[in-house]
Amino acid sequence: MKLPECWNCRRRFQWKEVVLFISSKKCPSCGKTNYLPSRKKYGTGNILLILVLLIGMNVMNTGWIGNLMFAGVLTVLWTVLLPFTYTFIEEEDSLF
Ligand SMILES: [Zn+2]
Repeated sequence: MKLPECWNCRRRFQWKEVVLFISSKKCPSCGKTNYLPSRKKYGTGNILLILVLLIGMNVMNTGWIGNLMFAGVLTVLWTVLLPFTYTFIEEEDSLF
């Protein structure tokens, strides 16, 4: 897994630069705006997470405190790892 790089100048973004952005990020090096393809934003990732969460809760059967901790750990993990799945593009994809 690698962090995304700028489509224009190939500068690799730092983790802290991309972990909390919404859908576009200006490159600090060349000033071009990088966009996430919309399929990443609305795509399979989040659905997969919810599925894993639901299955995990049922399998583990740890009660609501356990479930809460499990969900918390997963959320943190997801936030930390998500930037590594990003690929930036030049233009924002159409949703349709
Ligand atoms: Zn750049």
